[in-house]
Amino acid sequence: MGFSVHLPTLIMLSVAINLMVGSLLWAIYYLRGRQHYFLLWALACGAFATGSLLAGARAFVDAPWFTVFMGHAFLGLSPLLLLAGLERFARGATHRIQQPRYFFRVTLAGYLIVLFAVFQSDPLSARLLTALFSAIIFSFAIYCLAFSASQPALPRRILQILFALHGMLMMVQCLVIAMNWMGISQANTDTVLRLVLINHTLLATATVLVLPLLAFTRSESQLRALAEKDGLTELLNHRSFFQEGIRVFEEASTNGTPMAVLMLDLDYFKEVNDRWGHAAGDEALQMVARILKNELRNEDIIGRIGGEEFAVVLPLSGEESVRAITHRLLNAISHEGANVNGMPLNLSTSIGGIELTEHHHSFSDLMLQADSALYRAKNKGRNRVELGDLMPLPIQ
Ligand code: GH3
Ligand code: MG
Ligand code: MG
Repeated sequence: MGFSVHLPTLIMLSVAINLMVGSLLWAIYYLRGRQHYFLLWALACGAFATGSLLAGARAFVDAPWFTVFMGHAFLGLSPLLLLAGLERFARGATHRIQQPRYFFRVTLAGYLIVLFAVFQSDPLSARLLTALFSAIIFSFAIYCLAFSASQPALPRRILQILFALHGMLMMVQCLVIAMNWMGISQANTDTVLRLVLINHTLLATATVLVLPLLAFTRSESQLRALAEKDGLTELLNHRSFFQEGIRVFEEASTNGTPMAVLMLDLDYFKEVNDRWGHAAGDEALQMVARILKNELRNEDIIGRIGGEEFAVVLPLSGEESVRAITHRLLNAISHEGANVNGMPLNLSTSIGGIELTEHHHSFSDLMLQADSALYRAKNKGRNRVELGDLMPLPIQ
């Protein structure tokens, strides 16, 4: 094989890259409210750099306790810290591994015991053990990522691919060492192992770059949900409901497609709170939100625009009339709201609705008329629907 590379240069390069990306992860940990998974990932880089340095010193120092045992202890610790970081990250949303600390301690102890038993026989046996151990840890990391459904999908997939490549690379290393032992391979083992180290460094760098992406995409989607959703019902809040409503209004006016706006206000809700308490009131609001989600289609926009006030934008497909939809909602709320978690709350709602006509110049026009229809529904005795509006729109 015509490939040759200066091993100490390669090791120093790998150490430098790992120290740099490790420092970057540590800086993120320090700057981002000390999220511990960033610290664990930074330590994984540090452990890999230390292990590489110690193992690389074998050519200059005859102290196998340091260069082989300690070197490989750090090299094995590195993927374990990476996995521990991933577990911590996933634990933010799910509770998969029940006793993670115990699991990691036992795994590390098992690895060190086997390393202790083999490291003095042949330096290659320690290498084989570390490669095998790393391959197992990477496979386990792929498995853990597959079950962490709460994480964003794209960075998770990229990480799984990188871990699979890492694992395969480690298995290639095992194969080369095994073939060397059995005398099957005529290939230069050292050259192959250098190639493995180059690829390993590239993969480690790529992995470390994807880890913050994994964390940042999750925080971003959490922040977006906080900004757009109402915390109690998880429906759209007032601001994002209006944003979405304006978008649908503009589409419908441009394309000449039908749409409608509904406003719902729960009847005598103050009495529900006064009689059954605020917590029961909250449960009732959550139940109403659930009914709206169940009864309406995915393309309908549902928001909680006030305390016990909800609004809906219906892009109409012509399959069902607004009257039919509103009566379905009215019936579902009074039927399911008769008893909320064992409490006879006898909920009901009043609904005002309006369909888009050429007289509507803005989404606010529709909201205004839906509101006056709702007002009529309240005046006419509640638990009913009023559609359209007799009140003229303000002159533009
Ligand atoms: P009406 O039929 O005229 O609409 O009567 P109402 O009692 O529903 O109307 P009102 O506006 O007087 O009262 C609204 C009540 O909604 C008052 C308030 O305590 C309650 N409310 C508003 N937001 C929340 C909330 O987040 N949780 C709970 N539990 N109650 C809320
Ligand atoms: Mg109200
Ligand atoms: Mg009310």
